[in-house]
Amino acid sequence: MAGKKYVYSFGGGNSEGSGAMKELLGGKGANLAEMASLGLPVPPGFTITTECCVDYFKNGSKLPAGVEKQVKTALAGVEKQMGMKFGDAKNPLLVSCRSGARSSMPGMMETVLNVGLSTKTIPGLIAKTGNERFVYDAYRRLIMMYSDVVMEKAEGIEPAEGKAIRKQLDAMMEELKAKKGYTSDTDLTVEDLKLLCDKFKKQIKTTLNREFPDDAMEQLWGGIGAVLKSWNGKKAVSYRRIEGIPDDWGTAVNVQSMVFGNMGDTSATGVAFTRDPATGDNKFYGEWLINAQGEDVVAGTRTPNPLNQDTCNEQNKHLKSMEELYPELYRQLFDIRNTLEQHYHDMLDIEFTIQEGRLYMLQCRVGKRTGTAALNMAMDMLKEKLIDEKTAVMRVSPAQLDELLHPILDPKAEKSAQLIARGLPAGPGGAVGRIVFHSEEAVKAAAKGEAVVMVREETNPEDVEGMRAATGILTARGGMTSHAALVCRGWGKCCIVGAGCLEINEVAGTMKVDGKVYRAGEIISLNGTRGYVYAGAVATMDSSENPKLQHFMKLVDKYRRLGVRANADNPEDAKIARNFGAEGIGLFRTEHMFYGKNSEKPLFALRKMILSATPEERQKAVKELFHFVKKDIKGTLTAMQGLPVTFRLLDPPLHEFVPSAREARQELAKALGIKLIDIARRAEGLHETNPMMGHRGVRLGITYPEISEMQMRAILEAAAELNRDGHTCKPEIMIPVTCDASEIKFQKEILARVAAEVAKKFKVPAVEYKVGTMIEIPRAALLADQMAAEADFFSFGTNDLTQMTFGFSRDDIGAFLGDYLDKKLLAADPFQTIDQAGVGKLIDIAVKGGRSVKPKLKVGICGEQGGEAKSVEFCHKEGLDYVSCSPYRVPIARLAAAQAAIRCGK
Ligand code: ADP
Ligand code: MG
Ligand code: MG
Repeated sequence: MAGKKYVYSFGGGNSEGSGAMKELLGGKGANLAEMASLGLPVPPGFTITTECCVDYFKNGSKLPAGVEKQVKTALAGVEKQMGMKFGDAKNPLLVSCRSGARSSMPGMMETVLNVGLSTKTIPGLIAKTGNERFVYDAYRRLIMMYSDVVMEKAEGIEPAEGKAIRKQLDAMMEELKAKKGYTSDTDLTVEDLKLLCDKFKKQIKTTLNREFPDDAMEQLWGGIGAVLKSWNGKKAVSYRRIEGIPDDWGTAVNVQSMVFGNMGDTSATGVAFTRDPATGDNKFYGEWLINAQGEDVVAGTRTPNPLNQDTCNEQNKHLKSMEELYPELYRQLFDIRNTLEQHYHDMLDIEFTIQEGRLYMLQCRVGKRTGTAALNMAMDMLKEKLIDEKTAVMRVSPAQLDELLHPILDPKAEKSAQLIARGLPAGPGGAVGRIVFHSEEAVKAAAKGEAVVMVREETNPEDVEGMRAATGILTARGGMTSHAALVCRGWGKCCIVGAGCLEINEVAGTMKVDGKVYRAGEIISLNGTRGYVYAGAVATMDSSENPKLQHFMKLVDKYRRLGVRANADNPEDAKIARNFGAEGIGLFRTEHMFYGKNSEKPLFALRKMILSATPEERQKAVKELFHFVKKDIKGTLTAMQGLPVTFRLLDPPLHEFVPSAREARQELAKALGIKLIDIARRAEGLHETNPMMGHRGVRLGITYPEISEMQMRAILEAAAELNRDGHTCKPEIMIPVTCDASEIKFQKEILARVAAEVAKKFKVPAVEYKVGTMIEIPRAALLADQMAAEADFFSFGTNDLTQMTFGFSRDDIGAFLGDYLDKKLLAADPFQTIDQAGVGKLIDIAVKGGRSVKPKLKVGICGEQGGEAKSVEFCHKEGLDYVSCSPYRVPIARLAAAQAAIRCGK
């Protein structure tokens, strides 16, 4: 494929690329191009496309043809703009090699700074800058980064614990600092740095068996290659799996002329957010460090200074802000902040560097934010007319909304809790859990369903899986832009960083504060919104009663077409669902009244019914059951205040309800007037080899019509009584596990008779109701036209439909589904997100088939997937009338439905 354009230049008020080209140039490259076009001070450079990365891997890890030449041409362009030459002895240009995928992967991939420094170029740079210390500081940084990123990681070398080259070099530098009594890297003198550079190079030779390259061009290609390879590095792959980023996107490589924040006291580097990423407040928020370079701010080795008054906190209030120290530069940065927000219509995360009093922009991207901040910013920007309503709706992701609905520490309980430490509020909400100190422990504990708080000195990219698994993260070091803070903010996870009073010993598994030691396994509580750490478990509470949230949800409802109902089986859940905005109940499972609280009496009656051997016995048991069923139904209809409620007829796993304890069996025997041995015999008779495909659902009502009849009567009598008392109600009767229209017909005949009897009993003309069926067996989907002829509505029971379509037993997937996901044979768990290819095809056939007979056939879905955003989008596109999900997922389904409508341009 000769002639492909792999390289795009930017800089000097002019760019070949633009912000719209993220797929090709990666996020960083596209935004560098965009900022340069806006006339912002961006050091010139060029971007090697993601396509090059993809082709590189296709090509057996070799650069595709043409790249080399295009890079040379672009480099010449940069040299011309800068008036410097790469690798030149007199006037050397230095560059950085920066990775940048389509969506940001903080800390996952590699960057090398100061590329081009060698024994040949060093004297020239010293002569030019008159700053020998700066040059050797830049050199030691190059050696440290390059050996780590290019010579070790990119080569796939996996050093033993503590033996990584970066760790070794860090230790050597710390040792020298300790010996000389220095507290900061900036105390190192020229002589120290020269000595270090020499020692570093020797150490690299002994450890990695290769010389540190002393040629600028060799360094550049090494850097480019390492960035490309980092796409398939271990941590990048694992991060992509968690974030659902496809492996075949590839990363771009940005080569950019260096500007130096480490040239002395009028130089600095910093990072900022155009608004507060934790709260969403419209305040410029950032940190900076004088005489520093690159990652120094993020690395947490020195406490960064606040950018301005608004950014001051406990840790940094003694340090000078940029606003105070360099008001001119601050003003310029503040103007850039405004320009960027006006241009991007969003909150941005920026990187800047000041070289001897001149400001440069090195990066901007849409900033990660907490759910709280996402909501607040969306509503503020709408008010500021920076965005329109639809954009506001799109600005809060379903996961962020989920986070907003998540618990916080109960403020009352918090008042009396024992405060042990304070840190920075890096991720919102509350977390209560047992202390763990290592990523693997967090993963293990989470697999067992235990809540843990991961406590670390500071986190690094190797910790992400543990961080994901933990309920909360606590670190002793790092600022608001540290790794832990960035990652947790992206996930909306409760996180506190920089709790400096904690003495953490990860090896010993202890956390010491004020002379008291906390060990792994002890419970602590975090308030991530304020940065407070408490001993013991503090009570948590719901945080959904927020006026901004209510306003936002109003907007959401304005833009959605799809209805949202809830799965609820009792009056309490029905109330919760209504409060969350459910427009009805899509699934009321009758059998749920036999579990948990207050279930003893109805359960006893159910057991009698199940174990009845004669019609007489059964009739008696059914009569007893009737009252319980009717009471629950009436309560739920009342709670829903006229909204529709879909009652599914009994679909119980019979064997699960038979007691095994001797006393319980004895009691049952007594009630039925039979012997204990008969109970055992009858229970034996109920045993099924494959209960999932056994005597359940409508099949029960075929064998024992009196069971269906009892439920139908309960529903219709409850409705009749409510109607009589002046309430409206809309009961819907749903027949489960059908595979043929004849089954529905059979049940409907019973229903018609019962309805007439109820009408007569209550002296009313008729009770209004609908009757429909679940579609959960593939045959029913395939014969949907026939099913529709007998049904007022369909509801896809996607749990069973998935089970039957895949032939995967829902109860046994634990043994193999994980392997399917790990080996990428399946992209996602089909029980969590609808398998659109297979199950979705059946749904499509059923919707079309059903509506070919009844164009207005009401169709919904009531499986677990009904509250999952991708599945909701699918339901929207299929033209379903509603989704039904658990009460707590209702707001998320509403948002997903609105976003689907906006995305599809409804
Ligand atoms: P990441 O994606 O991990 O943020 P970056 O590519 O942004 O990595 O680079 C790491 C650090 O180096 C950042 O602080 C960035 O601002 C700094 N940096 C990158 N390129 C240059 C450059 N050309 N001049 C000065 N600093 C740079
Ligand atoms: Mg990085
Ligand atoms: Mg960056």
